[in-house]
Amino acid sequence: MPEVSLHDIRRLVPEEVFLALETSRGGLSHEEARRRLGLYGPNHLEQSEPASPVRAFFRQFTHFLAALLGIAAALAFLAEWMRPGEGMAMLGWAMLGIIVVNAVFAFFQEYKAERAIHALRLILPATTWALRAGQPEEIPCTEVVPGDVLLLEEGERIPADARLVEAVDLRMDNASLTGESRPVRRTSDPAEDGHLHDIPNLVLAGTTILSGRGRAVVVATGMQTEFGRIAHLSTLPQAGATPLQREIARVTHVVGLLSLAMGILFFAIGLSMGLGLWTSAIFGIGIIAANVPEGLLPTVTFALAMGAQRMAKRKALIKHLNSVETLGCTTVICTDKTGTLTENRMKVQRLFVDKLQVQAQEGCLNVSGHVLTALEADRWKDLFDAVIHCNNARRTRRGEGRHSIIGDPTEVALLEFAIDHGLLHRPFLPRMGELPFDSDRKRMTTLHWREGRLVAFVKGAPESLLPLCERQLVRDDTPALEQSERRRIEQQSRTFAEQAYRILAVAMRDIPHGVDRLTIETIERDLTFLGLVAMIDPPHREVPEAIARCRRAGVRTIMITGDHPSTAQAIARAVGLIPGDGSTGRGRFTPVIEGSRLEEMDDAALQRLLTPAHPGEPDPIFARMAPRHKMRVVSALKAMGEVVAVTGDGVNDAPAIKQADIGIAMGRAGTDVAKETADMVLLDDNFATIVNAVEEGRAVYANIRKFATYVLVSNVPEVVPYLGYGIAGAPLALTIPQVLAVDLGTDMVPAVALGAERPHSGIMDQPPRTRHERLLSGALLLRVYLFLGLIEAALAMGAFFWFLTDQGWRWGQPLRWSDPVYQQATTVTFAAIVMAQVGNVFACRSERTSVFRLGWFRNPWVLGGVAVELALLLFLVYTPIGNVVLGTKPLPAWIWTVLVAIPFVLLASEELRKVIADRLRRANDAVRQPTPRPRARAA
Ligand code: ATP
Repeated sequence: MPEVSLHDIRRLVPEEVFLALETSRGGLSHEEARRRLGLYGPNHLEQSEPASPVRAFFRQFTHFLAALLGIAAALAFLAEWMRPGEGMAMLGWAMLGIIVVNAVFAFFQEYKAERAIHALRLILPATTWALRAGQPEEIPCTEVVPGDVLLLEEGERIPADARLVEAVDLRMDNASLTGESRPVRRTSDPAEDGHLHDIPNLVLAGTTILSGRGRAVVVATGMQTEFGRIAHLSTLPQAGATPLQREIARVTHVVGLLSLAMGILFFAIGLSMGLGLWTSAIFGIGIIAANVPEGLLPTVTFALAMGAQRMAKRKALIKHLNSVETLGCTTVICTDKTGTLTENRMKVQRLFVDKLQVQAQEGCLNVSGHVLTALEADRWKDLFDAVIHCNNARRTRRGEGRHSIIGDPTEVALLEFAIDHGLLHRPFLPRMGELPFDSDRKRMTTLHWREGRLVAFVKGAPESLLPLCERQLVRDDTPALEQSERRRIEQQSRTFAEQAYRILAVAMRDIPHGVDRLTIETIERDLTFLGLVAMIDPPHREVPEAIARCRRAGVRTIMITGDHPSTAQAIARAVGLIPGDGSTGRGRFTPVIEGSRLEEMDDAALQRLLTPAHPGEPDPIFARMAPRHKMRVVSALKAMGEVVAVTGDGVNDAPAIKQADIGIAMGRAGTDVAKETADMVLLDDNFATIVNAVEEGRAVYANIRKFATYVLVSNVPEVVPYLGYGIAGAPLALTIPQVLAVDLGTDMVPAVALGAERPHSGIMDQPPRTRHERLLSGALLLRVYLFLGLIEAALAMGAFFWFLTDQGWRWGQPLRWSDPVYQQATTVTFAAIVMAQVGNVFACRSERTSVFRLGWFRNPWVLGGVAVELALLLFLVYTPIGNVVLGTKPLPAWIWTVLVAIPFVLLASEELRKVIADRLRRANDAVRQPTPRPRARAA
């Protein structure tokens, strides 16, 4: 194929374009496309190098906590220098070792988290529609080659540089190239020279289609495109820290600084009590090491990434880790109707034509039980011509001669109707122009050549189309549309809508010869009403249950649809958004607000309308809404302090999606623009998936609290030995290496396992947390430090003294460091803390629910974590390596009878606390009364 430049191609007429690129109107053949793919390579941009893993690894050493441990190690080496030969150097080395182990652990957590997020991005393959061997086919963008004929639709992103050969009202957003987001028109006419970005018949890779449609022949792909030439690809979203990660970083900093201050204070106290430099140093360093929650931050990142992965399994693709936590505090979901609550699989069931109600059944039309013959139906040929021709749905071949229809589901339904009723044999009328559908105008018009005249076919929402109609089709005649007839049609449209049908009005016009400028105003006027088409679009099966779950979870669901108010209401009733049948129950008071009414309302009135009078009251339904109205509702809700999730699919939805706390795009029906703007993409376009994602978001947050609790609890039994040593003169029950072995060894795997806990059944029965809720709340800290922590400390110190007393030691008796009994006793404390943590991991699986109700085997990771923890304990106690590194000594068998009881004691105490807390909560709930707030009805 000869090389063709963008500059050369712009001057050609479409036929010459095909010739120049050695292709045809029907696109390339499959073999040729394959050949060109081999020749030109895949259509993607070479990515800049990902961040180097070596750099990422070394970054782990610059963390605040690593620095803190480094200071502690330096102090140990200082102590060694001042009093050589007393083991402090060993301690210093141990701490340095810990820094390395911690860095490796954090590095792998981060690495795995990053990989998980990267893998998620790949789930949503970018595809585009192109003609191959004359048939439209959806192909991966990477397989686009020069010569491919692209089929361009509103909202799509252009995959390669291409020359237009057909354009209908095409407007592009070139912001990704030019930085300017003003829409620019594009046509297929030959053009003169100019800057590449300004040539009106070129569409360039990376730009998006704001409206209209067209066809274009690919000229350049991959790095040869204009985008490839200038892209630095630093545009890939950088994974910034999420608020939760920042909060955790803040908490660890505060805790770290506190422990540093405490360490210094205790060092000073030790000195002033005459403990000597060495003892005081151990004391201070121990306090620091015991308190620093080393593993917390990487584990949080890991939990967020795992949450995102679990969501993806449930068909919700998260694009930023931030959204995982925001989802958990969502208070309102603003949802579209079509495609999100309903299946978006429409089927024409009723017609209203010629003043008659017609039923469309399998292959036949019938009026009051009478099946119409083809001849009888032929008198509605204008209506049939209109639904077939004012239609952009296309038939495609899907392997072995099977056909499927692709396009806008409303239009697909019309084409299927035409096929089912044998209407496609009608003569094909060449299309001369199009005024595309947009959700503001709510109608669409095409122009055709029929029997030597120009005709316009129009279809759209009845309210948008009826006012433009001056006559109607009655028995092959077109008398004027009287006022009474108009009312009759409106009444019929309402009746259809109340039966949950989606309705289209259809009209036409013979364009008089005198009209020389064809514009919306000159075409869409003086129309002849042809009929109404009613389509059914059933709700997704899972939606009613999902809405009920939202209600229980304190999350409000607000429907914002472009459809007719009665259709919206009927669907709302079918999915349980409005309780009752509307004629008797409370449903009939649910306001339905139309876009036009919203425009009359000021912000205060809108906010009053959006404030429920009492919890659980049905929310208003918004119908006949344009995207700008949706945006207003979202802004009002946000101004009221709600955390808002918003769904959208069109280009015009992008501002609302951006404005929302969680913007959600439809994976199937959504445009590229909506998907790019969104924080989350629904792979199955289903409302129920949003609710699942909210559940997972809540679970992630709950899990982070769980392992934060778990990790912090063991700090108490680690600090208490030092307090006893420094203040009460007790023998030191735990050595510093042992402290670190708990924090960075035995605690790690169970903590990560808690991050994998699946959502508990009750998680959607609680109201959403507020966005400003502290991760480590007062109640949590009380439970950590004054309940679980103290119990662990008491058990560990108890075991220590039990062992010592059993060995004949009495209070006040000095113990030498080298005494094997003393070494065994510290080993007992160490083992007791680890055993208590075994009980604690089960205690932490839920703040409220009994572990017996949770099921012991529901999270196998926890069992695995406990197994690793115990294996590590045995290794550290019974192997020479463990003995050297931690200063432990093998324990006699009898002490295990005491140690094994420890997890059960801890767990039993926590179970008792849960029972009492539950009783108190219930008693509290029983006395609390809801306070009703008045809701202003819309004027
Ligand atoms: P939602 O906002 O919940 O997705 P929707 O899909 O009904 O609802 P729009 O796409 O804005 O919202 O459609 C509004 C109305 O426009 C429909 O009720 C229908 O009457 C009309 N309409 C929809 N699609 C077309 C189309 N392709 N051509 C002409 N009219 C259409």
